[in-house]
Amino acid sequence: MNAEGTIVGRKLCKSFGSNHVLRGIDFEVEAGEISCIIGPSGSGKSTLLRCLNGLETLDRGVLKVNGEHFGYVEHPHAFHALSARRLARQRTRIGMVFQQFNLFPNLTALDNVMVGPVQVKKAARAQAREHARALLAKVGLSQCEKQYPAQLSGGQQQRVAIARALAMEPSILLFDEPTSALDPEKVGEVLDVMRDLAGAGMTMVVVTHEMGFAREVANNLLFMDDGIVVERGDARAVLSDPRERRTQEFLERVL
Ligand code: ADP
Ligand code: MG
Repeated sequence: MNAEGTIVGRKLCKSFGSNHVLRGIDFEVEAGEISCIIGPSGSGKSTLLRCLNGLETLDRGVLKVNGEHFGYVEHPHAFHALSARRLARQRTRIGMVFQQFNLFPNLTALDNVMVGPVQVKKAARAQAREHARALLAKVGLSQCEKQYPAQLSGGQQQRVAIARALAMEPSILLFDEPTSALDPEKVGEVLDVMRDLAGAGMTMVVVTHEMGFAREVANNLLFMDDGIVVERGDARAVLSDPRERRTQEFLERVL
């Protein structure tokens, strides 16, 4: 079976010292699905995403991404990390878009999009440039190729960041509050790009406070609080008719 674009996590646990940030998360995404994660600040959403792409290592649990064991693998007696080489290879197949864009400030928009394929995948420059141009066009930024991040609006920077993630041709894209740092009038242009990606069948995990986007685009919605998944289900159902009191209270605060 082709497991490209799938995630299966079982009993995922992660602590920082005595702070148990993920306390047994079960998490599953099928190829082409959009999963949105909501929840209060500090509930472990970013940590979960960072574990999904190996930026953090799990303490316990079983995690398979794209059909391959990723990070730590449960074993009767111990937890085993993957070799650095396998981890690095798997990581290229999972893109991440951050709240703060994280573009390289000293590179133009075009170079930001090219740098991954050239440096990590050893792609030929001419080919990488052509692909990067096509991706910038796709996010509506052909006119910004030569500009540096500081010359771009937040919404434009985030669209460059999405193009940069796509340049690695990932099978899964993770978004960590991609519109939270934007001026309200710039949110729509980034959500439009994400909608296009969703429509094109990209597997996406999106931590967001944009409930309208979640309602419209997500196949699944998870509400996390205090390191556990309190409630999950069809996005419209969870948002309009939450079953758990903690979900109800959260939604009353944010909606
Ligand atoms: P959320 O994204 O839902 O706001 P986070 O995953 O960022 O939550 O954080 C959950 C908890 O983990 C917080 O208490 C935070 O302080 C802690 N935490 C996150 N990353 C680290 C880290 N690298 N070192 C220590 N504590 C961390
Ligand atoms: Mg966060």
